[in-house]
Amino acid sequence: MDRDFKASPGRHCTWCPLLLKGCPVADTNPYGQMTAEERLRFALWLQKAEKQNTRVLKDLMVERGAIHYRDGNQEEYSADFVPVEKRFYPYRSAAGILDEWFRTHSEERGVLVKKDSLQILTEIAE
Ligand code: SF4
Repeated sequence: MDRDFKASPGRHCTWCPLLLKGCPVADTNPYGQMTAEERLRFALWLQKAEKQNTRVLKDLMVERGAIHYRDGNQEEYSADFVPVEKRFYPYRSAAGILDEWFRTHSEERGVLVKKDSLQILTEIAE
């Protein structure tokens, strides 16, 4: 039986001896477009480009507000700041209050997840 198998790129290409020379779909095979080192370099470049682009995009949003974009398929995208609630407590005030609380409620010490926090409170108490 003579069957005609089609080449299909995928993870298996990483160990294929035809990857760099002889792959029948070399022109479109993404695994053969770059060496592993070039992939790493490209990944690093993408990270830096994404970071730089996000920084510029944030500056633009500060100046212009939300930014909207509609692609050729009429999909709409937008970039805007989303408020995120953050709570900060001044260390000096919070440490004293927590120390007093745990001194009078020793059964609550279990709520302290981080050992370092417990050690800090213990040191303050001494
Ligand atoms: S490198 Fe080409 S021939 Fe080799 S497994 Fe991938 S697609 Fe198939």
